[in-house]
Amino acid sequence: MWQAEVRVDLDAIRANVSRLRSGTTAELMAVVKADGYGHGMLPAARAALDAGADWLGVCTLDEALTLRRAGVTAPVLAWLLAPGLPLHEGVTAGVDLAAASLPQLDEMIEASRLAGRPARLHLKIDTGLSRGGATVADWPALLDAAAKAQADGLIEVVGVWSHFVYADMPGHPTTDRQLAVFHEGLAMVERAGLRPRWRHLANSAATLTRPDTHFDLVRPGLAIYGLSPVAGETYGLKPAMTARARVMLTKRVPAGTGVSYGHTYTTPADANLAVVPLGYADGVPRHASNSGPVQLAGKRRTISGRVCMDQFVLDCGDDPVADGDVATLFGSGVDGEPTADDWAEAVGTINYEIVTRFGGTRVPRVYD
Ligand code: PLP
Repeated sequence: MWQAEVRVDLDAIRANVSRLRSGTTAELMAVVKADGYGHGMLPAARAALDAGADWLGVCTLDEALTLRRAGVTAPVLAWLLAPGLPLHEGVTAGVDLAAASLPQLDEMIEASRLAGRPARLHLKIDTGLSRGGATVADWPALLDAAAKAQADGLIEVVGVWSHFVYADMPGHPTTDRQLAVFHEGLAMVERAGLRPRWRHLANSAATLTRPDTHFDLVRPGLAIYGLSPVAGETYGLKPAMTARARVMLTKRVPAGTGVSYGHTYTTPADANLAVVPLGYADGVPRHASNSGPVQLAGKRRTISGRVCMDQFVLDCGDDPVADGDVATLFGSGVDGEPTADDWAEAVGTINYEIVTRFGGTRVPRVYD
C-alpha cells in the first residue's frame, strides 16, 4: 500500500517526443536536466530515446556522467560548467561540452590534453538572453581561438548555439532579433573557417511555434514532459506526471475551527477535514497555502490553511471522505483533476517549477 507517490507516464513522454519529432526535420535533443524536470533523468532519457530523440541535454557534468555510467550511449551535451571541474572525465566519456569564453576554451583544451582526445565543443553565442554565451563583441575572438585550437587538433567545434528569451510568447519581436543575431553569428563562424555540424537554438516553445529556428537540432525540455510553454495552448501534448497521496486522517470539526499553523484558515461551518501526507519537503509549494487545488472524493478543493513540511489539510465541508481516499494534486487533467498549469497559476509560478519540485524528494516515483 502506498502513502504518496509521483506517477510518471513514460508512454506520455514517448508520445510527446514522437509528436515533436514529427514536426521537424532537425535532430531532437531531449532536455533531461534537473532530474528530467522532476520526472527522473534516466527513465525520461530512455523513454525519449526510445521515441526517437537523437540527443540528450543536461546542465552539469555530473548529470552527463550519470547518463554515461547508466550505459546511455546517445550524444549528450552538458552546458553549465563552472571553472575547475574534471572536464576531461566528460571528454573521456564522450560528452559534448559548451564553451562561451576564452577561459572556458582554455579549460576544454586542457581537458582534451588530459583525456588524450579532442573535446567536442558547442560554442555558445549570447543573442540577447544575457545569461550563458559569448557577447557578440567577444564572439570573433572566441571563434579565432577555437579555429586555431581546432587546426592544432586540440578541440573539435561540432556545435554553435544560443537560447531564446521570449519564445513562450509567440510573435514577440525579441525572438526575431535573436534569430537575426544568430544568423550573423553563424556567418562569422563560417568566416572563421569553422563548419560545425549542429546549429541549434530552439527550446520547446520555438520547436512548437517557429520552424524557422530549428536549424540542425531542436532542444525541447518542457514539452517532452507534456507541458505547454505557451499559456492556453496544449499542442496535443500529454502531461506525464501525476502527484497524489492517500488521506491519512479524517475528522469532523465544528464551525470556527482554526486549521494548521497560524490558523490562516477557519472553518466557515461544521466540516469534515482530511489530512493529506504531502508537504513542502515533498515539493508542494508553501505558497499553495489556502490556494493549491486538489481533487478528492470527486471534487476539486482548495488547501485549507498552511502547507506544512509533511502535510496539509482539506476542508471537505459535509462531503463524505474517508481515510485512505486518494487526493490528487495534479495530473494530466483527463479525469478532472488539476494540472501542473492550474498549480502554477494558483501559486504564481510556472509549470516548469511545479513538476521540477517533485524530483528527488522522499516521495517514491512510480513509472507507468
Ligand atoms: N536549452 C537550454 C539551454 C535550456 O536551458 C533549456 C531549459 O531551460 C532548454 C533548452 C529547454 O527549454 P524548454 O524546457 O523551455 O523546452
